[in-house]
Amino acid sequence: MYQYKGLDDTIAAIATAPGAGSLAVLRLSGKGTLAVLARTFRPKSGKGVEDWPTFTVRYGWVIDTAGETVDEVLVAFMTAPKSYTSEDMAEISCHGGTVAVKAVLELCLKNGARLAEPGEFTKRAFLYGRIDLAQAEAVLDIVNATSESFLRASTHQLNGELSTELGHIRGQLMSGYTMIEALLNFPDEDTDRGQAAQVGREVDGALCAIENLLATAQAGQVLRDGVRAVICGKPNTGKSALLNAFLRTPRAIVTDVAGTTRDVIEETAFIDGIPVKFSDTAGILDPRDKVEEEAVRRSRLSISSADIVLLVLDQSRALEEADRELMASLGGSADLEVIVVVNKIDLPEAFSLSAVEKLLPSRKVFPVSALTRAGIADLEKEIARLALQGVRVDTHTVVVSNLRHVEALSCAREALHRAAASIVDKAPLEIASQDIKSAVNALDSITGRNVDDDLIDQIFSKFCIGK
Ligand code: GDP
Repeated sequence: MYQYKGLDDTIAAIATAPGAGSLAVLRLSGKGTLAVLARTFRPKSGKGVEDWPTFTVRYGWVIDTAGETVDEVLVAFMTAPKSYTSEDMAEISCHGGTVAVKAVLELCLKNGARLAEPGEFTKRAFLYGRIDLAQAEAVLDIVNATSESFLRASTHQLNGELSTELGHIRGQLMSGYTMIEALLNFPDEDTDRGQAAQVGREVDGALCAIENLLATAQAGQVLRDGVRAVICGKPNTGKSALLNAFLRTPRAIVTDVAGTTRDVIEETAFIDGIPVKFSDTAGILDPRDKVEEEAVRRSRLSISSADIVLLVLDQSRALEEADRELMASLGGSADLEVIVVVNKIDLPEAFSLSAVEKLLPSRKVFPVSALTRAGIADLEKEIARLALQGVRVDTHTVVVSNLRHVEALSCAREALHRAAASIVDKAPLEIASQDIKSAVNALDSITGRNVDDDLIDQIFSKFCIGK
């Protein structure tokens, strides 16, 4: 297990994003926080910093070594161990923009702090044991979250709910493991059989809990990374209008001139909290020039990499050869999740829905109007259902979204299957004991009980400086 002895140095970094803004925040953490503040900050109250009560804010000025005012600031101070890092910490709120806060940072560095490495504040919180590795990774997920659903799921992880669940499973496995160790050390024919059966029950219980966690992984991945959906159909069927309906804002150009969309337009819409990256394609048409040839090539490329394909037909015009060709090529492909969208239902119909259903009996057909939004909600529901492949997502509970965690849980599951089988086969209990221990190790790698420095460095290097 990683043992942290504490650090003597004090770190500093700008915690807010670069660029214009009303405030910029600089963070300090470490034993020397007050010493750096004493040299850098002059409070208006005139009180020295030595007796600064924790969780209070002071107003004053940052003063450079020549006695010049650098910025007018508010400084919040938190005493160890009740701070983000578990060390003495300060947050200096400077005027926004990059100039003032950079000058304050340079001064803090001159006055005894060192520039923090990426993620070093969160790393310190982990190394001091305030949070575990799964919680630290949740901090990164929260910072990078692109949807509210993923943010909610990550917040549960930060609150330690995944860690608590893993703790229960670990407890169950350790009880099985110690039972086996006792049996091996003090064999007793009469009780052995009953004890082995009890170990089997603990293993089965842990397996069931791991399966439940892994069952959320598919949804977790979708919430984290989203899915790709391609909108295709012949020109003028309303593909761009449909994209705008999903985005709820006019992004793609909508005109009645065929072939307006020449390039693939990509935009992310949030459907039921799932990030769906839509590509509005040029429409498969006979290319008239080099530009259109390229547009068609790109459309085909996006279709082949899509999770969901929306095939758009225009119900106000009779079905043409181009529609039939598309229906045959896309609708017939078993590898593609295709939804047929019959658009412009606000206009008089030129063909019936049943005609399309007959041509594509295995595909769901959704009548919509991109213009009036009729049918869009039902279509969105179907997109969300396909994105999650039928898995129900409950972001109010633990959702496993991190690939590292999924791999570790899968390893633990495999080891426990082996353990369960060897108990059923009445194999020597040492075998089950080893497999249970491997499962415990796999679970411990998620929370960081038994990880090496390299993995820790690798995880925290993905953070930004100041987090
Ligand atoms: P694309 O070439 O497939 O991207 O088609 P556009 O989105 O540019 O739309 C082509 C034309 O159809 C435009 O004049 C749109 O205003 C019109 N349009 C699109 N959707 C609808 C709809 O649901 N109802 C009606 N009445 N017109 C629509």
